[in-house]
Amino acid sequence: MWKKIRVTTLLIVLCLVSSETYLKQLEATDWIEPLRVVVYPINGDGRASTQAYIDSLGEAQFDEVERFMKRQARGYHLLVDEPVQVVLGGQLDEAPPAPPRDGGVLHAIGYSLGMRYWSLRHDREPADIRMYLVLFDPGHTDRLPNSVALSKGMLGLVYGFADHEYDGSNNFVLTHEMLHTLGATDKYDPVTNYPLYPAGFAEPWVAKRLPQRKAEIMGGRIPFDEHNAYMPYSLDEAVIGGYTAAEIKWIR
Ligand SMILES: [Zn+2]
Repeated sequence: MWKKIRVTTLLIVLCLVSSETYLKQLEATDWIEPLRVVVYPINGDGRASTQAYIDSLGEAQFDEVERFMKRQARGYHLLVDEPVQVVLGGQLDEAPPAPPRDGGVLHAIGYSLGMRYWSLRHDREPADIRMYLVLFDPGHTDRLPNSVALSKGMLGLVYGFADHEYDGSNNFVLTHEMLHTLGATDKYDPVTNYPLYPAGFAEPWVAKRLPQRKAEIMGGRIPFDEHNAYMPYSLDEAVIGGYTAAEIKWIR
């Protein structure tokens, strides 16, 4: 009985929220005005070293993301010259809820709503897209949790390393998740992480297919041979491929 009530309530709330976010996403992908993306840093491990990194962050931190989007957009002849403006938001004291480990649909719906509610409560600045960047000292954390984005919620949760050596890869992951919020889908095998051919390859149609020189942003890695692919160091080694471009409506 209680489960039924809970499920029904969840579904009603979801319908209401979905129609609103659907309209928002539709407007965001008309690419007439630059989208304002606010990145909120969060100290993920409470360490002084992580805090020192956050304190060192400036507005220029995400210029690479803006330049990448601008460079890529040029190839698709968008009306807007600068597709996104990425600004640094104030630090938040609390991290958003982590995504559920088990992949049940109800858990996913509950998480999605919980995350949107959390975001509403921590909303400080006007934004089209909100990204929460939870940082950890790489000297004490080897593996980061998987970053996530709500495909229709226009918000993302990105885990990154609090060290300027990782700025390039943090920006790569941030951009990948940001594009999820605009409707882009993953283009890699979830078991092996190897990019899917052809959609997840930066240059799928070149005569010598392997090794690839760059990563398709949603493919996530640079394919080296038939089975191995590695993470790019920065967005300089990435492109937005045709399949992703179609999903975010750069090709109509
Ligand atoms: Zn992804």
